[in-house]
Amino acid sequence: MTQMITVLGATGSIGKSTLDVIQRHPDRFKAYALTANSQVDLMVQQCLAHQPKFAVMVDEAAARQLKTKLAGLGSSTQVLCGVEALCDVSRDPEVDQVMAAIVGAAGLLPTLAAAEAGKRVLLANKEALVMSGELFMDAVSKNGAELLPIDSEHNAIFQSLPYNYGQDAKVKQQIRKILLTASGGPFRGWTQQQLESVTPAQAVKHPNWSMGQKISVDSATLMNKGLELIEACWLFDMTPADIEVVVHPESIVHSMVQYVDGSVINQMGNPDMRTPIAYGMAWPERIDAGVDSLNFFVDNQLNFEAPDHAVFPALKLCAQAFETGGTAPAILNAANEVAVEGFLREQISFNAIPLLIEQALGACDVVTASSLEVVLEADRMARRFVQDQLPS
Ligand code: NAD
Ligand code: MG
Repeated sequence: MTQMITVLGATGSIGKSTLDVIQRHPDRFKAYALTANSQVDLMVQQCLAHQPKFAVMVDEAAARQLKTKLAGLGSSTQVLCGVEALCDVSRDPEVDQVMAAIVGAAGLLPTLAAAEAGKRVLLANKEALVMSGELFMDAVSKNGAELLPIDSEHNAIFQSLPYNYGQDAKVKQQIRKILLTASGGPFRGWTQQQLESVTPAQAVKHPNWSMGQKISVDSATLMNKGLELIEACWLFDMTPADIEVVVHPESIVHSMVQYVDGSVINQMGNPDMRTPIAYGMAWPERIDAGVDSLNFFVDNQLNFEAPDHAVFPALKLCAQAFETGGTAPAILNAANEVAVEGFLREQISFNAIPLLIEQALGACDVVTASSLEVVLEADRMARRFVQDQLPS
């Protein structure tokens, strides 16, 4: 039966790759709802190509424009507006799978709505899980949702773990460590002094992956890897001590699992997000993702090194926030989002990003993440704190 898919964040980098995979398999998948923040023109094109039942724009003016344009083109897609509509198209009974590809904390509510409605959740929006860890995982298990990691590293770990991982406690004892690979970003090997003067344009230029601006900056600070460390802890029931970050500049090995017998199982492939996206959509089957196979006679160098914690303090901040628990990861995530925006607007230096996160973690009270309201309040508090530190 055709799988109906809601694509949250359809106009973004992951959203576009998801639509590409859907288009390759019209017999298996259909876009049911597409959502975006404010990019009207691209949304018009996507609606014409996929004819979803719903298109949601968060921005009200953008929704009005989209409605007018689509009506003029004779499209039957219904245009909705606002955050509640994002949640509605995620929990809609007609929907089988939800691609969670909104960037940042803005994705939390609709992603959680998909989990609560027991959907297959294709999780790209790592910030949602980082913020609400336990609440999110509880929502998944209580409502029988299927959580498929789309982040390439977590998808690789998922592929490299035994099929019955998580079902039988004995299986976990066979695993020595998870090796989470990191490209090292555009500033691998740089000194802290060199980093002081880097520009947003330099920071968003990732050597291997083409991604949205925010995650590109996160990759440059290694915050992305830190968020992924927290993401892996929740997804695979691990602690930071069970996970080692390994810098692998080629981005061919997408992460590995080390077993007690000395074996290391990994997943390799060209750095193209359509591979993990297609895997998540079709799991447990495999389908064509439009991605070429590796040519080892060309890609014949695989290098590995340790991360430089002194120059990139974000990694350790993330491990500490996870260990502190409660609302600490929500504070960390929100502080990072505001600091990254400040850096992109050239209000603060690159090195100020981890500094502000550390300050926010020191200044904001950490409490038990007992409810969604508590998590959202921690998010607001950390945003206000960092906003107040930015020069106007
Ligand atoms: P992007 O910036 O390219 O796209 C973001 C999407 O979210 C857009 O469709 C945008 O309209 C929407 N959006 C932005 N703000 C919103 C708001 N306030 N409310 C509702 N929608 C909003 O980002 P991306 O690179 O596609 O990343 C999306 C998510 O996937 C992020 O959480 C990122 O960490 C994760 N991810 C991305 C990649 C990648 O290769 N791009 C890899 C792994 C994980
Ligand atoms: Mg990743």
